Amino acid sequence: MSRRTAVVAIAVLAVVPASAPTPESPILPSQARHLWPDGGVVVRGARSVVVGHHAAPGELRDLARRADAAGRRVAEVLGGPVRPLIVVPGTAAEAAALARVGSVDGLAAVADRGRVIVVPEVFARLNSTGKDVVLAHELTHVTAGTDGLPIWLYEGFADYVGYRDSGLPVRIAAAELAVEVRAGRIPGELPGPAAFAADGRDPLRLARAYQEAWLACRFIADRFGEGTLVRLYREARANGVDQALAALGLSAATLTARWRDYVRDQLA
Ligand SMILES: [Zn+2]
Repeated sequence: MSRRTAVVAIAVLAVVPASAPTPESPILPSQARHLWPDGGVVVRGARSVVVGHHAAPGELRDLARRADAAGRRVAEVLGGPVRPLIVVPGTAAEAAALARVGSVDGLAAVADRGRVIVVPEVFARLNSTGKDVVLAHELTHVTAGTDGLPIWLYEGFADYVGYRDSGLPVRIAAAELAVEVRAGRIPGELPGPAAFAADGRDPLRLARAYQEAWLACRFIADRFGEGTLVRLYREARANGVDQALAALGLSAATLTARWRDYVRDQLA
């Protein structure tokens, strides 16, 4: 669910067009009070709301612009409008408490109950493209939901939306997987929970898990069209992934075989 930073650490710098500054709310909405009794700052974008704790207003305005752009990207794929709610705690520990998880070590942001929680220390270290990819990824989780889906589908779909307009070449965005492919090692199966749980033990495996999942969804969009990928996602949430794949004439086995060919073609 949470977007890791391994991939975006090597992302090339992109220029994000600046839009008009967004006004800060002089009055704390109830949400900011509810989150932090000692107060917070709320910045409104065109469609987004950013609630920050001990964050500089300039940072929150930057996030509101990025959240608006991420919302437009998600809406282009899933339909809209999308109204992002971004929460910016003061520290990673505060982010973990808000998300009700033990740790957010190494994460840049997490999707949590209709909102995106930014992990300030890690998010701040991303370059501009990385920030936009992370926000669009998490906002895709929030907007499309993940219940009942295999992890390769919901993480791959979130990266599909995240990278869709990033301008990053596939060999750059999937650099860790490309190393394996060039060494003649093509993954044998779609990444499951164990690959995504690699975490601190094997960060390269974790990076490749996201890249493998991304390329599975990118394959479906390239071969059948983006609209078909979105319908597959929704059908899989409603009736299970096997039935959704069957509507495309695919099974898990045939998808895996064709995805392996695609990975080889894209990265060899
Ligand atoms: Zn995710």
